[in-house]
Amino acid sequence: MSYRFIDTHCHFDFPPFTGDESASIQGATDVGVQSIIVPATQAANFSRVLALAENYPPLFAALGLHPIVIEQHSDDCLEQLQQALDKRPQKLVAVGEIGLDLYRDDPQFDKQERLLEAQLKLAKRYELPVILHSRRTHDKLAMHLKRHALPRTGVVHGFSGSVQQAERFVQLGYKIGVGGTITYPRASKTREVMAQLPLDSLLLETDAPDMPLNGFQGQPNRPEQVVRVFDVLCELRPEPADVIADALYRNTTALFDF
Ligand SMILES: [Zn+2]
Repeated sequence: MSYRFIDTHCHFDFPPFTGDESASIQGATDVGVQSIIVPATQAANFSRVLALAENYPPLFAALGLHPIVIEQHSDDCLEQLQQALDKRPQKLVAVGEIGLDLYRDDPQFDKQERLLEAQLKLAKRYELPVILHSRRTHDKLAMHLKRHALPRTGVVHGFSGSVQQAERFVQLGYKIGVGGTITYPRASKTREVMAQLPLDSLLLETDAPDMPLNGFQGQPNRPEQVVRVFDVLCELRPEPADVIADALYRNTTALFDF
């Protein structure tokens, strides 16, 4: 039995995909990955990500300023984001990757919050969902999302946190991105969260080339690995596989409107 999948988070504008786009997309579509959403991380990559989406039918673009490269973002970058959104590119489906991160040294958190606020406002103005990154910042992020009440909400990608934190995002109307973390038996907390949340709140993702799955450490992650993430999710959840596959697909197309 084969299903159709969408990788809602793949950094396809980075190696090993650069220069190997056609073969990489073929490898993914061969196992049922119909579409791949490519979130940009900084203004310098916006045109690359948009060009990928224009040139390859399975690819869709998101544009945003990622907190992990906070030092790369000048005020001019926000201006560039607004100008790019203003052109309403056909295959642009979200603002992202945006968010908060307290994992790294010198996080410049005030600047992170200022950029997040500005980008949430842009998402509202251009009626787009958001793709959110959050590490050690779930409560802060939830506060910002509550304040802005985006009509199209978004997804908290690569979620690892408590059931309570996940439920708070779900109550605010956000989806939760399920990735390779659940393939590690030691990630029992995240596995439990993904087993317990309502099925209609979940999306599949890889975060490729990052976040290699269990058994694939040291290798670049790839979009076709959503199928393995899906298989593990099916082991964790009570519903039959076809019901899960169908829900994940519909959750994704409904959120991103394609
Ligand atoms: Zn990412």
